Amino acid sequence: MFTVSEVLLGFGLIVLIILFVFRAGIVKEVVLLPDNYRELLTDYVKFYRQLNEEGKVRFEKRMEHFLSAVKITGVNAVVEDIDKLLIASGAIIPVFAIPDWQYINLHEVLLYPGAFNEDFDQAGSDRPIGGMVGSGAMQNVMIINKWQLRQDFINEPSARNTAIHEFVHLIDKMDGTFDGIPEIILERKYTGHWKNMMETTISKMKTYGSDIDMYGAANTIEFFAVISEYFFEQPALLKANHPDLFEMLVRIYKTG
Ligand SMILES: [Zn+2]
Repeated sequence: MFTVSEVLLGFGLIVLIILFVFRAGIVKEVVLLPDNYRELLTDYVKFYRQLNEEGKVRFEKRMEHFLSAVKITGVNAVVEDIDKLLIASGAIIPVFAIPDWQYINLHEVLLYPGAFNEDFDQAGSDRPIGGMVGSGAMQNVMIINKWQLRQDFINEPSARNTAIHEFVHLIDKMDGTFDGIPEIILERKYTGHWKNMMETTISKMKTYGSDIDMYGAANTIEFFAVISEYFFEQPALLKANHPDLFEMLVRIYKTG
């Protein structure tokens, strides 16, 4: 039998272990969505609004997981509930059809109020004031412009969405090469075809112009991000205007 002091010692040890685990962040507290999240998502996130009830619940769970794993920090900007919801939406929309997806290459999102280019190396920043994914010392960090983030979700007829754009860059980078070919989700037998398709379309864009944002003609990295924005923001239009690209994006994002 145990003596009273042995029992107390054992109990004390258990308490210490539990405290250690929580303090070390091994068990992360679950970040709950704000009270009015359904209202906010319905008002501002078209993708969410178009899901059925089961899909909405699944989307919310995925958002909760994302917000538990990734810190969102304001830099001279207040992070409001709506900003958290929009960033998490931008993260989940591209990978919604891919179960168990985790952005293992992202630890923190920095939210800036406006243009941040003056404070950061211009290399890697998107469309002057949109956002960027970090490299070097800023590895695993994303920067998003608060004004642009909100504007892109509010302006529904546009094919532009900065948050989706930046998360697509992370998906692209996850296989170790930043090249517009997301090997981590695209079957190997299609990668050559996708590369050719991107290069051909970029060359047509440069010659004839396009309904695709010309920022995508910069290189295959930007093309993949820009065409993915179009795919998630205006799928019917992309299907009508570019059926081949649409078909490949269905294959990439498993939305078929
Ligand atoms: Zn970009």
